Amino acid sequence: MKYNFGIDIDGVLTDEGPDHNSIWQQKMNEFFDREITLKEYTYDLRKAFALNDQELNEFIQEKIEEIYSSVKAIDKAKEILSELYAEGHRLILITARSTEHRDLTEKWLKENEIPYHELHHEEKKAPLAVEKNISLFIDDKKENALEIAAENIPVILVSKYHNYDFKGNNQITKVNNWDEIKENIDLFFSKNTHTSKLS
Ligand SMILES: [Mg+2]
Repeated sequence: MKYNFGIDIDGVLTDEGPDHNSIWQQKMNEFFDREITLKEYTYDLRKAFALNDQELNEFIQEKIEEIYSSVKAIDKAKEILSELYAEGHRLILITARSTEHRDLTEKWLKENEIPYHELHHEEKKAPLAVEKNISLFIDDKKENALEIAAENIPVILVSKYHNYDFKGNNQITKVNNWDEIKENIDLFFSKNTHTSKLS
């Protein structure tokens, strides 16, 4: 049986560094004339780093391409995705990054040797996950996980400061790293093999 995997990029394939010294925080510290630290455990960068709208806009305009191009990839992600690719599963990357960063994103994926079949830029991931017949989704944003799981698609949620307050549920499994992602993919395979044997 071949499956379609839905995979987020930022925070899942990228190694953003530790919560309290992430690449985002480092670049903010280069950019602003004051010390920037993580203040609130939320996905909203304004609140997380106590910036106003104008500051965030200026920062994103100046620094986002630098972050997207210089962020490291997680080696283990490349390794595990390469195995899935070789086994014939379909790897569908779905990112909320704007389409204006598509070339840069493709270049980054190539340079980091991350295999994939499709790359989509979409903020509302759940409807696309349904359309693409995704069997299992991997993301780090709690809101995405909840919306995708509501469509009856199991989700692996990568643990981050911004989802600390969510423990997961019967459809959403929280993990700390790609070793745990792999364990859960194997578990997903074994469960589905079992089901098809019974039917
Ligand atoms: Mg993400």
